[in-house]
Amino acid sequence: MKADYLNKFQGTLISVAIGDTLGHPFEGRLRSDIYSRFNKFEEFIQNNKSLFTTYTDDTQLTIHTAEALIQGGGFNFNNFIREYVKWLDDPPIGPGYGCLSSIQKLKYGIPWEKAASNSGGNGTAMRVAPIGLFYCKDLEDLKINAIRSSIITHSHPAASAGAVVIARAIAYLIERGSEMHFSIEDFFNVLISFISGSDMEIWEEFIEILKKIRRNLDLSVEAGLIKFSQVGVKSPYFIEQFLGKAFVHPYTLSTVACAIFIFLKKMKSSFKESIFELSTAGGDSDTIGAIGGSLVGAYYGLNKIPEDLIKLVKNYKKILQLAESLYEKFKEKY
Ligand SMILES: [Mg+2]
Repeated sequence: MKADYLNKFQGTLISVAIGDTLGHPFEGRLRSDIYSRFNKFEEFIQNNKSLFTTYTDDTQLTIHTAEALIQGGGFNFNNFIREYVKWLDDPPIGPGYGCLSSIQKLKYGIPWEKAASNSGGNGTAMRVAPIGLFYCKDLEDLKINAIRSSIITHSHPAASAGAVVIARAIAYLIERGSEMHFSIEDFFNVLISFISGSDMEIWEEFIEILKKIRRNLDLSVEAGLIKFSQVGVKSPYFIEQFLGKAFVHPYTLSTVACAIFIFLKKMKSSFKESIFELSTAGGDSDTIGAIGGSLVGAYYGLNKIPEDLIKLVKNYKKILQLAESLYEKFKEKY
């Protein structure tokens, strides 16, 4: 069966926004605290609509990434910098330090090589979905441009690794979605081989983390989150009070690990169950919702996403239109 690219482009981008919107009220909360607030998340959303009125920086920057790709018909440093600087006027909602500090420097004309922060935060994996979509047929370009899109704000290799893995996963899921054969083993092999042989210590560490996820897929979501919430986080950055708890650290490797873990645990159930589980992960819940949302959206496509969840998203028509414009540019090029 051939992939329906427009359906996948729209499904992926709107799912970033759905996961981000649903996770936003739970950013910085323990998973156990989140789950103490409801029996059924769906009812909680219905009864507390005022909590779910906006997405955050994750979707804002994903939108700007898509805009930059559309303008250039692909990656171009100047377009990306201009779009990310525009984000400062959105204004940013719940931004991370790495993004904000570097983009403020870009605004004042400091070259990206000097403006980029040394942050290994998840700020680049959370905005990379349009690159995974646009370059899904050219994997060398996908890798190069996922890295370029990352290093203009984050010079740390963990940030590049996370962006590359998520972009590659999206490209994979476009071709192997819910209606096609999907093998977890193959999924891991593809991701691992894509980041192998880089000579970068953190990329090698990421490979070990991916293997660890593969070995632990029989854990419950809660137990897996306790295991992976701060995986790869080094002293002095781990958060002592949340060690051994389900509270996803905003470091790229831990966030991407948890997003992939939940996605693989829930993807066969339904879009709704997957996105609910992602956005209530605990800790950096909105970003888990956004990154995991990009995976589950690429897996299912727009036509499997419930309308009430699409309409929950602020500016959902604009996001669907943007995905269509990105698809048009993709079609022109490939
Ligand atoms: Mg956010």
